[in-house]
Amino acid sequence: MIYADNAATTRMSEKAIQTMTTLLEETWGNPSSLYEHGQKAKTVLENARAEIAAAIGADAREITFTSGGSEADNQAIRSAAEIGRAKGKMHIISTAFEHHAVLHTLERLKKEGFEITLLDVHENGLVVPSEVEAAIREDTCLVTIMYANNEIGTIQPIREIGEICRKKNVLFHTDAVQAIGHIPVSVIEDHIDLLSSSAHKFHGPKGVGFLYAKRGIRLTPLIEGGAQERGRRAGTENVPGIGAMAAALKESIEKMPENTAHLLRMRDRLIAGLSEIPHCALNGDAEKRLPGNVSFCFEGIEGESLLLMLDDMGIQASSGSACTSGSLDPSHVLLAIGRVHDVAHGSLRLSLGEDITEEQVDEIIRSVKEVVTSLRGFSPVWRDLTSGKKPFIL
Ligand SMILES: *Cc1c(COP(=O)(O)O)cnc(C)c1O
Repeated sequence: MIYADNAATTRMSEKAIQTMTTLLEETWGNPSSLYEHGQKAKTVLENARAEIAAAIGADAREITFTSGGSEADNQAIRSAAEIGRAKGKMHIISTAFEHHAVLHTLERLKKEGFEITLLDVHENGLVVPSEVEAAIREDTCLVTIMYANNEIGTIQPIREIGEICRKKNVLFHTDAVQAIGHIPVSVIEDHIDLLSSSAHKFHGPKGVGFLYAKRGIRLTPLIEGGAQERGRRAGTENVPGIGAMAAALKESIEKMPENTAHLLRMRDRLIAGLSEIPHCALNGDAEKRLPGNVSFCFEGIEGESLLLMLDDMGIQASSGSACTSGSLDPSHVLLAIGRVHDVAHGSLRLSLGEDITEEQVDEIIRSVKEVVTSLRGFSPVWRDLTSGKKPFIL
């Protein structure tokens, strides 16, 4: 079995499993309790907070633990909106290819009277910083742009965007769920005010993540209750999950140089191999992309059929986003980079893990070539294309 869907979730690392198991067995106290069991759990929590903060150049007090990336996105955007609303600033800038945790939160705010500008991400899947600057108005309260895209892997010019927002005195949030643990991120150097992250995307457990909020930014709690997380998020903390998240992040960062070098070689080998298939195109910039991300469109086939056949051959991949499976709508990300419906339907995302081998990459190339050829063999769309009835797009 070859698992090539690490953008959907990653397997927990041995270290993270060990840490979590030990915490489940031994550190089961409530961190709010004053006796020893509680205080031990509190120590785990605060050590994890300090480690995670250090990993992104933040201060421990700037980290709030959440149930994952979606919650962090919701809270970051909701908080910036409330700060804006209080000042009569109700304009938010984002992009059309954000994760739904961002887009649906923005849709909700739109219903509450906020005005949303979605910037073009162009054919290469990249935001142009000067276009961010041009979109900022007197009443802009937030710019929210993801660090790296979960479908096509493009890495945004976050530092340049951050500089512009700082200069213009506008809050800047980034959904860094695909970036943290995979590429270096510094909230100081990148001028980030709010950042979302999720443990299960870097070999930690599911259901836990964190939100970084620069000192002085008041977070609006999404969950009311006790005074946990300094009043920013009520509820007894997920101590084993948080401890395991910190262990997973530490390991990912330690191994990053080595993993990145290997992944870049594997990614580019895979891209070169798949590019030999006629009438296909790589989605997103070839260089400014995550080390493990490969995303293609193949003309004349259905991505869903491709996935099912690859699964039969022991290869687990995705058509782009887990959210579109089961629906006939093509991915909003592929539409945002200008792929037409027919082409967007024939998409394949392979997100590689650090343990992928050259042999496995070659097996993926062979299998995808075989499946694409066979699917095209009985595709009416492909027949129309090859007979000249319809023009090729790719
Ligand atoms: C996975 C993902 C999320 C959601 O994170 P959860 O922890 O699953 O809620 C948000 N944004 C991006 C870019 C993601 O890849």
